[in-house]
Amino acid sequence: MEIVNYPHPALRHKSKPIRRVDAKLKETVAEMFELMYAANGIGLAANQVDLPFRLFIANLAGKKGEGEEYVFINPVVSKPKGNEEKEEGCLSLPGLYAPVKRPERVTFNAYNLQGEELTADLDGMMARVVQHETDHLDGKMFIDRLSATHDLAVRAEIEQFEDDFLHARENNEIPSDEQVAKRLAEIEQEYC
Ligand code: ZN
Repeated sequence: MEIVNYPHPALRHKSKPIRRVDAKLKETVAEMFELMYAANGIGLAANQVDLPFRLFIANLAGKKGEGEEYVFINPVVSKPKGNEEKEEGCLSLPGLYAPVKRPERVTFNAYNLQGEELTADLDGMMARVVQHETDHLDGKMFIDRLSATHDLAVRAEIEQFEDDFLHARENNEIPSDEQVAKRLAEIEQEYC
C-alpha cells in the first residue's frame, strides 16, 4: 500500500458506502495509520491509498502514540455554518499548501470500526479535516476549491504534479485509468 499523488485516477473515484467490516479491512486501516504517520499527515482517505472504501482516518496530533486516532466510515457532513479561509495541504500533493474557504462549523455523522454511530457538531481543525477528507471520498480535492487568485499562485506546482504523473505513466509505473477503475470496482463489489 502506498499513498498516490494527484492526478492518480483513484483520487477521482466517488466511493460507495461500506456495508461490511472484516479483519482485512481493519488491517487496511492499521496500515493507513502507519502511512499517514510516516508522511506526517493528520488525515488520510481510502482513495488516497488506491482503495474504494468510503472511509478515512484522522489524528490531529499527527504522531503515533499521541492524540486520538479516529476511523470514520460512511461519513456525512451537514448543516454547514459560517465561513473561514485556512491553509490546507494534502498527502496526495506533498509540499503544496494553499488557503481554502470552507464552512467554519459542520455537523458530522459516521460509523467507527465497531459499527457504532457517531454524531458531533465540529469546529476548528476537526471541522476542516472531516470536510477535506469527506471531499476525497467524493473524488474531490482541495485544489478544486481554490479561488482564482490562490489557484494561480500554485498553478505551476499543480502542473509539476501532472507532469510527474505523465512521466510515471510513460515508465509504466502507474496502471491505466481502465485498470485502476476495474480493480476498484472489484474491491467495491466485495464490501459495498
Ligand atoms: Zn487530502
